[in-house]
Amino acid sequence: MSQTVVKNISLLVTNNPTLGKTELGLIENAALLIENGKISWVGAGESAPSAEKTIDAQGKAVIPGFVDSHNHLIFAKDRAGEFSARMKGQAYSAGGIATTVAATRSASDDDLLANATHLVHEGLHSGTTTVEIKSGYGLTTIDELRSLKIAKQLTDETTFLGAHVVPSEYKGKADEYVELICEQMIAQVKPYAKWIDVFCDKGAFTTEQARKILLAGKAAGLRPRLHANQLEQGDGIALGVEVGVASVDHISHFNNGDIELLKKSKTVATFLPAAEFSTRSNYPDARRILEAGVTVALASDCNPGSSYTTNMPFVIALAVRDMFFTPEQAIWSATKGGALALQRDDVGHLSVGSRADFVILKESSYIHLAYRPGVNLIGQVWQHGKRI
Ligand SMILES: [Zn+2]
Repeated sequence: MSQTVVKNISLLVTNNPTLGKTELGLIENAALLIENGKISWVGAGESAPSAEKTIDAQGKAVIPGFVDSHNHLIFAKDRAGEFSARMKGQAYSAGGIATTVAATRSASDDDLLANATHLVHEGLHSGTTTVEIKSGYGLTTIDELRSLKIAKQLTDETTFLGAHVVPSEYKGKADEYVELICEQMIAQVKPYAKWIDVFCDKGAFTTEQARKILLAGKAAGLRPRLHANQLEQGDGIALGVEVGVASVDHISHFNNGDIELLKKSKTVATFLPAAEFSTRSNYPDARRILEAGVTVALASDCNPGSSYTTNMPFVIALAVRDMFFTPEQAIWSATKGGALALQRDDVGHLSVGSRADFVILKESSYIHLAYRPGVNLIGQVWQHGKRI
């Protein structure tokens, strides 16, 4: 049995309040023991057990690997031209997705897999050790199916998002497309998807259509999650709570009633500030949700249209600078919050029995992730107890 001890950690974020100080379970001068891909001991450096291998963290901070719970990685071609036009004043609309749908349908499986693999690796090297991947640029039964087969090769957190937008061939016949999803697509994609998601917003799907799709997915054994209220205030959050989704994502718009509903539910509120950044939209007033005690996650929303980044440290910096998260709330939301948004208890924290997914930073504190924006502070990434 191979054991590795990580010593000389200036500050360890365990996200386990029983192990250390505050919600982050902070331990100063800490050590970790890894065995069979899992954490087998956590505590003060002076009482660290000896092991066959020793890793010296050189007085730097260690955090759990990021859990990036919202991504659209199965696509072909980027939309750099659209981004440039937007930076020159054009508004973002859900319609741009159609451009990527056309490119994705005509791409080969190999090209789609290569692009998604590249993005997963990019995220991994910036500290993301658990990633969720959605379909949603196929929008035919065959293209959604192959998107999910490709996603499944890269992660267990796969999401069927056939209801991303209404494809052009169903223009004016959205209800027929909803039927296709409920009657045909769900049954086909089910073996390759853990989750079902709907883009419930202006220009995408109505609350009624979203409810129908989520319930059909749930009946087939898929777990629901939801894109809600990115573009306008709507009933997305209320629908998410009603259906019992794991997470309502984006929520760029919400009202007091929505906060009350979230407070009483187990649904996580996932913010995607890189989408506001990339679409030059107003950031939501996340403080109101945080202060209400709602469980909050942060994710990158990597996609070629509205947020083409895999970088969670950047997301943390935005959340702290522009959405008034404290550095502590931001690091927690990007790790433990993301794990809760994916209903996972084995990642997002560093406790005995959790997966040995962690990052040795190049600085002595997690605060530097927001304090030194744009600087690569990822020293070493460990996934399943192995250095990548
Ligand atoms: Zn999304």
